[in-house]
Amino acid sequence: MFTMQDLAGCVFTGFTVVTYKGKNKQNRSLWECACNHCGTIRVLPQHVAKTQKSCGCLRKKWAGNLNRTHGLSKHPLYGRWVHMRLRCADPDHHAYHRYGGRGIKVCKEWDTNFEKFYKWCMDNGYQSTLQLDRRKNDKGYGPDNCRFITPRKNVLNTDYPDPRNKTGYTGVSKNRHGKYLAQITVKGICHKLGSHKTAIEAAVARDTFIKKCNLQHEYKTQVEA
Ligand SMILES: [Zn+2]
Repeated sequence: MFTMQDLAGCVFTGFTVVTYKGKNKQNRSLWECACNHCGTIRVLPQHVAKTQKSCGCLRKKWAGNLNRTHGLSKHPLYGRWVHMRLRCADPDHHAYHRYGGRGIKVCKEWDTNFEKFYKWCMDNGYQSTLQLDRRKNDKGYGPDNCRFITPRKNVLNTDYPDPRNKTGYTGVSKNRHGKYLAQITVKGICHKLGSHKTAIEAAVARDTFIKKCNLQHEYKTQVEA
């Protein structure tokens, strides 16, 4: 009947295709699929069947037990807790590549227990306007690496040198030790991208980061990042 690729039986990241189900109004092929994680049956357009990572059950799993007895699920910290864990554990989260994808984890105590996270926040200066900052950007979320700071401080909290120190490359500055530091600010959060021997190396490191994370920032070097 149809000449398209028959996907029945194909196993993708999130789904196994069961059978063809015709076309939708947009003339896209629909396939009945079973979620690889929980078996839920969904009828999905082909591109979704191929790329979506679960039926949504992974996300639910990481959202934890929403109606547990802590009675705090409407507190702003609850949403922060859920999203912190999703960033680190759910490949479908839009920021996963900067967290879980880089090996950033939530410590076991916080990951498994919202109340412990909540108590730590309350004991450590939580306010709704403050950001939960990781002191060391390559270390995870936990009491030993976290603190609440203002978003502004989060940008300034670097060993970044005098801003008057121009190198000719956006996001690249020379420090007092003669090294070139690269950094980039994404949604108000500063990411340090290491120190480099030359300004161009630092600029390339920044461009590589832009490319890797699919950011909208402009490339500053000719090098194909
Ligand atoms: Zn599922």
